[in-house]
Amino acid sequence: MTSLRSVRGTRDLVGEEMLAYRHVVTTAHRVAMRHGFQEIATPIFEFVDVFARPLGETSDVVSKEMYVFEDRGGERLALRPEFTAGVARAFISGAFGQALPVKLFCAGPAFRYERPQKGRYRQFHQIDAEILGAPEPLADIEVIALGNAILSELGLSEHVTLELNSLGDAESRMAYRENLVGYLERFRDDLSDDSRSRLERNPLRILDSKDKRDREIIEDAPQLGECFNEGSHRFYEEVLEGLEALGIPFQKNPKLVRGLDYYSHTAFEFTTKSLGAQGAVLAGGRYDGLIKTLGGQDTAGIGWAAGVERLSMLIEALPERARPIVVVPMGDGMELEALKLASDLRAQGFFVEYGFKGRVGQRLKRASQQNARFALMLGEDELAAGKVQLRDLDAGEQLEVDRAALGEHLPRQGNPATSESA
Ligand code: ATP
Ligand code: MG
Repeated sequence: MTSLRSVRGTRDLVGEEMLAYRHVVTTAHRVAMRHGFQEIATPIFEFVDVFARPLGETSDVVSKEMYVFEDRGGERLALRPEFTAGVARAFISGAFGQALPVKLFCAGPAFRYERPQKGRYRQFHQIDAEILGAPEPLADIEVIALGNAILSELGLSEHVTLELNSLGDAESRMAYRENLVGYLERFRDDLSDDSRSRLERNPLRILDSKDKRDREIIEDAPQLGECFNEGSHRFYEEVLEGLEALGIPFQKNPKLVRGLDYYSHTAFEFTTKSLGAQGAVLAGGRYDGLIKTLGGQDTAGIGWAAGVERLSMLIEALPERARPIVVVPMGDGMELEALKLASDLRAQGFFVEYGFKGRVGQRLKRASQQNARFALMLGEDELAAGKVQLRDLDAGEQLEVDRAALGEHLPRQGNPATSESA
């Protein structure tokens, strides 16, 4: 029965993995809001062209990795392989109004038909930040600072390195492209098949090749910076100065590229050595040409995306989970009274568990399995006297308290669903 298995490259998020996922997304969201970003959600499927046009029919993502299908109405659709193109499409359709710049944050699943392995799945999740309508280097700094702050809040600063490069403006990149192709032509026959086919189409992407022989050739290739005009130099300098002013450490990596034509100036990646081949955790760059490529007005853009699964795997310790208070009915006929007590406390914001059956002993045993902090026991006598038995499950002590004063004895905790403290 193939239909009862989960599809290759997809996973169920349960238990610790779900907690880690929620922790990453909640933390990223909180930090993004603090930086003045606005959350949006775009559809997980779009017309194929939304991705195919900006990413290019020949890019790996479009030619090999994208999930494309026809719906019942005959529309050619794709599951989103990334967020940026959908966000740009939403921008062009007027979703964010006229006032620029806009700072956007989103989170959710993305889909790529890849060979599944550790840190690489067919359905995975990203958090994503974009700033549209800001051609200034301060926007590059802002967007990198957000990524840095999220990683820091997740406790991952020690695990990651910010690698940084600049592709320069269109003019500089054209000049470089010629230089690079001139150099690489001399090694045409030694290049990998992939790289040879990129020589005409997308030579910058060759700098990114993982092939061993390619890497040797690239080692001595001309560098982007050699072809920079005045403006490109100044832009990069300002980005570097901003990062230094904020105390964000980085390493320049002159081989770091984003291959597509609409990328310019800043390219960056936060990488780790802890995940084997899946070293990139958060990657982004400036894409000033993208919105125009999609048919919108010329509008600057810069952003990044990070893989939630990769971030989750790096996290060593999750925040402590909230501990429930368990309400236990004592004696027959007390179930509904106990349930009402649980309901009252929940309405006051306490984290309360309530079992559906069992004797007092069984319920208390289950309470310790649930790591409960207190048990509240309610029998006929307590009900009549307006009291409850409050059992401290850590200390093993029990005292009788006035029901009206119960709130003073019980701990208020963070949201149990997110394992966040308040
Ligand atoms: P890689 O070089 O690992 O294939 P990429 O360049 O394709 O990454 P981007 O398109 O920049 O990745 O996506 C941003 C982030 O999304 C990556 O840095 C990574 O953390 C995550 N990511 C990309 N593809 C996957 C996947 N198949 N499974 C899990 N996470 C992924
Ligand atoms: Mg990839």
